[in-house]
Amino acid sequence: MAYVKARDFKNALICFQQALKKSPNDSKCIMFVGNCYNELGEYTKAVEYFQLAINKGGINATLAGNISDTYQKLGNNPKALYWLQVRCSLDPMEAKKRKTIALIKKLQNPLSNPKGSLDAPDYLSGLAESHTWQNNLLPIKVCILKNPKRPEIYADFRRIAKAALDEWCTAIGGAMRYEFVDLPSRASLVCTYTDDPSEVRSDHEVGTNGNTTVHIANINNQIDRTNSVILVAKKSGGKRLSPATIMKLCMHEIGHAMGLNGHSPNNHDVMFWTSNVPTIRPALSERDKNTIKRLYVEYNKTQ
Ligand SMILES: [Zn+2]
Repeated sequence: MAYVKARDFKNALICFQQALKKSPNDSKCIMFVGNCYNELGEYTKAVEYFQLAINKGGINATLAGNISDTYQKLGNNPKALYWLQVRCSLDPMEAKKRKTIALIKKLQNPLSNPKGSLDAPDYLSGLAESHTWQNNLLPIKVCILKNPKRPEIYADFRRIAKAALDEWCTAIGGAMRYEFVDLPSRASLVCTYTDDPSEVRSDHEVGTNGNTTVHIANINNQIDRTNSVILVAKKSGGKRLSPATIMKLCMHEIGHAMGLNGHSPNNHDVMFWTSNVPTIRPALSERDKNTIKRLYVEYNKTQ
């Protein structure tokens, strides 16, 4: 428990596992092993131990809350919601808390419960909406904007955002090209970064540390302007997130900027509703590529 207090979950796990060898039916100790795996990011293992704890000692409110928490980290909202409701039924005081009510609402939000098949070749038909860029704006004028509060991050951010843009453009093929401009006023696609979490909170993105606004021209229902903000540190002046995390966020937000309005139900796609799951790699999945290709190819066929 001293290791848990010190947030040294590696050593805590070793101790709990030693204790389990002596008393393998101790359901509380089994739960602690699950908690350590949860903290260490091994969510599937954590769920296995929580399940084992239920088998040995029955369910209780704390255990149900921990299972719900782990399923949230896995991006499995239906299961997270189910276990949160179990928790509330075992602990009626919990159900009345404002935080719990807000969490239930978030888990029920349709934007964080995208519909559609998990293994179809693409997820275009499951999206709320999709749009393409106006052809006469090609190559799109792109500005990667420096944040004067964190100038030291700019070079790395620009490199990562460019890599994300290139991946999407390659997937779209000939129907998408871009060039860089220096001034945001001359750009159609602006992409910047922040270390202030309040700048990326929106109703649209419930599980991702980024936000993209897409402007659709009335005249032809196509995109003429987008603006993306990516969180690169969790607090003002704070340590920056890993390049892989920033890449995942850039891939996701630029996916919105390319015209995908909505999310994938598969937690291996970069357009999954949350980028906080370890299953997502910082690269487009085959389904991501097929979806954007289908959007642009089908649009150009109908023109
Ligand atoms: Zn999103």
